[in-house]
Amino acid sequence: MAIDFTFDAAVEDVRARVREFVAGVVAPAEEELRGRRTGDERADRRDLVATITALRARARREGLWLPHMPEEWGGMGLGPTAMAAVSAEAARSPIGPYVLNCQAPDEGNQHTLLHWATDEQKERYLRPLCEGTARSCFAMTEPEVAGSDPTLIQTRAVLDGDEWVIDGHKWFISGAKRASFAILIARTEGEPEIPQAANSAFIVDLPAEGWEVVRDIETMAGSHNHCEIRISGLRVPAANLLGGRGQGHLLGQARLGPARLAHCMRWIAQCETALDLMVGRALTRYAHGSHLADKQGIQWLIADSTVELYQAKLMVLHAAYRIEHGLPYKTEVSMTKHFVANALWRIVDRAVQVHGALGYSTDTPLADMLTQARWSRFADGADEVHQMTIARNAIAAFRADGTTASATGDLPL
Ligand SMILES: Cc1cc2nc3c(=O)[nH]c(=O)nc-3n(C[C@H](O)[C@H](O)[C@H](O)COP(=O)(O)OP(=O)(O)OC[C@H]3O[C@@H](n4cnc5c(N)ncnc54)[C@H](O)[C@@H]3O)c2cc1C
Repeated sequence: MAIDFTFDAAVEDVRARVREFVAGVVAPAEEELRGRRTGDERADRRDLVATITALRARARREGLWLPHMPEEWGGMGLGPTAMAAVSAEAARSPIGPYVLNCQAPDEGNQHTLLHWATDEQKERYLRPLCEGTARSCFAMTEPEVAGSDPTLIQTRAVLDGDEWVIDGHKWFISGAKRASFAILIARTEGEPEIPQAANSAFIVDLPAEGWEVVRDIETMAGSHNHCEIRISGLRVPAANLLGGRGQGHLLGQARLGPARLAHCMRWIAQCETALDLMVGRALTRYAHGSHLADKQGIQWLIADSTVELYQAKLMVLHAAYRIEHGLPYKTEVSMTKHFVANALWRIVDRAVQVHGALGYSTDTPLADMLTQARWSRFADGADEVHQMTIARNAIAAFRADGTTASATGDLPL
């Protein structure tokens, strides 16, 4: 019997240590931080950075650092399935992934550099990212064209001697404000054989002349360093091409698959927090002769959320398993990302409902979680784009085999 849903003792140990560390050290520090908020953005940020820096030093001392990276880069060398467990524990606190240095977008950029960068590029850019002395961003989306279709990218890079000259416009570039470098996607090829081969990736040292942070975009959840960037006459050394010419799309896809799954792992923690809050509130709130937990209408909300979280965990584990075993994973990651993003939205919304006015206030983390959850349904691949991939795969499987079986996770059922 090869199917086994337990982790080996070493992974179980790490998971337990992360859970304990997040519950006992990170969450209380985060709560204190929230209590100290002054409303002065600069002062609050200084406090946040100082808190995370101190927590990072402690995480390193306790051997809870860079869980997803190989040991030679200072990491814990965990594979995707073990990361599913660790991320789901770390993200029980919103600052947990930062403390362990496995936060987006750096985590995805670390993987990208590990697999695509030259040795010199790795030493210069990956090393400080792993050591926690640098932050990075990934710049692909543009306001003028649909981010869902990277073949439309308009930012252009033209080779001039041994430098690329880049002009364009990007937005929603997470972490851009204090990043020490960006991985930038720009069009380099004229009319390649396939439209996906038009883009290349570049490493851009920041700050740079020709790279202007126009604004930190105000979103429905406030400003969280998702920036608009104007690029004019930016000069990048030829040696800073990442991967080959025309490989930008390939690199983006290779980066986004596991990065999407890493989001799902963190969302599981959010789903669990919301469900815990929902049940906790239902057990104590009393109305019309009994606690909310005794009402069938509320039990349905709890039941639906419990089943969805169970599905989410199984899907994340299975997609991670496929990545870990070198099996095709694109459709499984699409199905997982689509499902978990929507489950997150529904579960947090139900938790708000059970809390009534309290859920609508900012006295609980739910309001923040709900506005954050909204972007999960279109960023890193909109629902409809993932549904397109999923349906296309099911139709192709049926055409090839007369059954859709291989498109439903290729499971032995
Ligand atoms: C909080 C946040 C952080 C982000 N961070 C980054 C970052 O760090 N770097 C970066 O490069 N980008 C980032 N993004 C951008 C994100 O990746 C894009 O929003 C996403 O790729 C969608 O592109 P778009 O917004 O241009 O929407 P569009 O592509 O214009 O799509 C809009 C809608 O059209 C529909 N649609 C699109 N294609 C299809 C189709 N084929 N069939 C049916 N319907 C379709 C979908 O409903 C979709 O939601 C971030 C976005 C957010 C909100």
